Amino acid sequence: MKRKCLLIFLMMIGMAVPGCTQKTEETKDITVSNLEEQEPVSQEVFAMDTYMTVTAYGENAEEVVDQSIAEIERLDQLLTATADTGEVYNVNRNGGGNLSEDSMYLMERSLELYQDTEGAFNVTIFPVMEAWGFVSDEFAVPSTEELQKKLALVNIDDLKINWEDSSVDFLEKGMAIDFGGIAKGYTSTKIADIFRNAGVENGLINLGGNVHVVGTKTDGTKWRVGVQSPGDEEAYIGVLSVADCAVITSGGYERYFEEEGITYHHIIDPSTGYPANNGLISVTIVSKDGTLADGLSTSLYIMGLDRAKEFWQNHSDEFDAILLTEDDKLFVTEGLVDDFTSELEINVIEKEK
Ligand code: AMP
Ligand code: MG
Repeated sequence: MKRKCLLIFLMMIGMAVPGCTQKTEETKDITVSNLEEQEPVSQEVFAMDTYMTVTAYGENAEEVVDQSIAEIERLDQLLTATADTGEVYNVNRNGGGNLSEDSMYLMERSLELYQDTEGAFNVTIFPVMEAWGFVSDEFAVPSTEELQKKLALVNIDDLKINWEDSSVDFLEKGMAIDFGGIAKGYTSTKIADIFRNAGVENGLINLGGNVHVVGTKTDGTKWRVGVQSPGDEEAYIGVLSVADCAVITSGGYERYFEEEGITYHHIIDPSTGYPANNGLISVTIVSKDGTLADGLSTSLYIMGLDRAKEFWQNHSDEFDAILLTEDDKLFVTEGLVDDFTSELEINVIEKEK
């Protein structure tokens, strides 16, 4: 079992700060003092099962970082499916119930993703996550019988949404929802909104390796965000130069266990109930819309290269992507060619002519 460790995200922050020269020790400080106007204010928090860092520059930076941390903690408590602080936990336990505006929005986006991805993204995946032990951390390969039973509960048609009174009903006993595939992207988008509403024009939101950059660096140049290598926590597939967007990566390496020499990870293919095994080992999505980026990083990972390529060709105005296959072939969509550098050979995915 391995999770993204503190070091990785500090490295990512290290790559993303101006000039990339900030020392790790400095980024570890909970609050960096705001002596000069352009000095960053940064805070760190452990939420949604990962280390997160929010960094803002300029006037109002301190206030905005405080608000952002409070918002992360609020959403963490609300959206968790594993602690009774949250409404997701409660609707799962009770077979339905009321949901807040945040959860209803995520439900709407989840249904949209289900349609668009032809079922690769399925918010009712929770019973299968549970069967593999990803909810309790008591990992085990379920029997075929158990898995089929749980998979039968993964069914969007049995999810009854009452949009007027903001509630949900599960038509089958044992059904449950899981926003784990989109919660971080949604959170980073909400934080980027907090920044903009307060007039903070430069910042960096790093939610456990899922990055959302606000504006540019203070010198007007783009942020540099490293895309982690699946095989080596300290290496990068390549580096992206970006402004004002989310950069969100999914990979089986982020959460997995091993049994009898086989690795089982946390991104489940709803057509089988097994961890997705369609040839991709890392998918990064770049989009202005963090919720979409998060949902699609999970979905394209499940789709595999050919379906993912085709999906992008049909949605190229909404996002760009970096895809790494298990035999180390790197594919980058046309929109990123000028903004992505890598030591690997880059295969460009072009829009269909
Ligand atoms: P990510 O790291 O964004 O790819 O999200 C992985 C998380 O999404 C898992 O830990 C589950 O909570 C959830 N998940 C796994 N498989 C699916 C799926 N097929 N559709 C929707 N959510 C999923
Ligand atoms: Mg995701």
